[in-house]
Amino acid sequence: MDFDLFVIGGGSAGVRCGRISAGHGARVAVAESRFWGGTCVNVGCVPKKLMVQAAEYGALAEDARGFGWDIAVRGHDWAALADRRNAEVARLAGLYRKLLEGAGATVFEAHARLVGPHTVEVDGKRVTAQHIVIATGGAPVRPTFPGAEHCLVSDDLFTLKRRPDRAVLLGGGYIACEFAGILHGLGVKVHQLYRGPLFLRGFDTDIREGLAEEMRAAGIDLRFDCDAVRVETVRRGLIVHTTDGRMLEADAVFAAVGRKPNIAGLGLEAAGVAVTAGGAIAVDEAMRTSVPHIHALGDVTDRLNLTPVATAQGHALADTLFGGKPRTVSLENVPTGIFTIPPIGTVGLSEEAAAKRGPVDVYLARFRPLRHTISGRDRKTLMKLVVDRETQRVLGAHMLGEDAPEIIQGIAIALVMGATKQDFDRTIGVHPSAAEEFVTMRQKRPDPLAEAAE
Ligand code: NDP
Repeated sequence: MDFDLFVIGGGSAGVRCGRISAGHGARVAVAESRFWGGTCVNVGCVPKKLMVQAAEYGALAEDARGFGWDIAVRGHDWAALADRRNAEVARLAGLYRKLLEGAGATVFEAHARLVGPHTVEVDGKRVTAQHIVIATGGAPVRPTFPGAEHCLVSDDLFTLKRRPDRAVLLGGGYIACEFAGILHGLGVKVHQLYRGPLFLRGFDTDIREGLAEEMRAAGIDLRFDCDAVRVETVRRGLIVHTTDGRMLEADAVFAAVGRKPNIAGLGLEAAGVAVTAGGAIAVDEAMRTSVPHIHALGDVTDRLNLTPVATAQGHALADTLFGGKPRTVSLENVPTGIFTIPPIGTVGLSEEAAAKRGPVDVYLARFRPLRHTISGRDRKTLMKLVVDRETQRVLGAHMLGEDAPEIIQGIAIALVMGATKQDFDRTIGVHPSAAEEFVTMRQKRPDPLAEAAE
């Protein structure tokens, strides 16, 4: 065999797997046809977070006035932000490639395709490998209604040359909600349409309702039970026709209606790799596909599509195959942040999911953060613990408010360790902080079912 490991896809999962495997002494090759670092570095987490931060500065400058600062916000330079953001993305993408080469891996900047169980065709050559990893990620789904070709998808935010004055966002997932905050914060008039009764399906309801309230209070036009049926071009931009019979004018329409695994052109049939009904590569606990020496990692498996999950899987697989330390990655208690404005941090079960397993105690705090007692901004922070009534184990921790993703990371360690409510209670708070609320929640929320029974 030419290599011990051939990785198809140089994103978070593939690069980590390739780099760690090479460090374990394996002969590794990694092929990437588009951009090193994949979605996260190039058209996802990293540029998105920079855009969120850019969006927050406008409001922070306004808030500063309450603290005595004489600041006038005269506008935002979209092109200047784009240049600096692109430079940082290019630096990081270059770093990803360098890390691989530094670890001794062979890199191919070309499309790779399976032509047999151990053979890959890349750059006009056929190479063989003992193990093959598919880590090709996912791509935005494009809607199919008439005029959908006029819609942008999330990738396009990062190549837009000018700020649109009016934007319509379609969808109610991570991306639509984050984009709403970014665009609104940068001065765009935003409408967000979601087909169901409340966006962020699957997250805790109190948090979802809290975010909807905050977004509306900020001036975002949120429409639930509403979707686009058609988009047409007119002289002054686009018109979105909605299911409730309205017409919304826009300069940009972003469809954020989900992502799908990148499996086209990989030659999966040639190697006998099975695909799920949803078009993802089917894997077991150990990330093995239907062909045991071919593995798949990250978004192409469409399980929990988060960068840190993908990198953890890549690392675990490298340790398993070449490090003599077989291990798998648990998908339980994976914390996540939604970088809306304000953001969400969450780990474990929502109240609804926990209640399906058995009785729960719920602790909920809603307060105005200290900063906003002076800034004058009408913003509330919401924190919530969902506790197993019998064992007192904390099953879920949820937060909507400034710094939520930063705070939830530490709380996630406690949940992974199996902390109980009493463990939270005996932890001393950091004062004054919002985070201390997580260890000072004493009052259970009245249980409507128990009250009804009394
Ligand atoms: P999601 O799958 O999270 O959300 C898709 C949204 O589009 C849902 O609200 C869904 O509604 C709606 N939708 C789906 N199909 C249609 C349709 N045909 N017509 C109208 N609406 C539709 O996808 P995203 O694109 O927002 O993000 C993809 C994934 O990327 C996320 O799930 C997450 O794993 C990852 N991600 C993580 C981020 C982070 O960690 N901060 C940031 C961005 C992305 P319904 O709920 O009713 O099905």
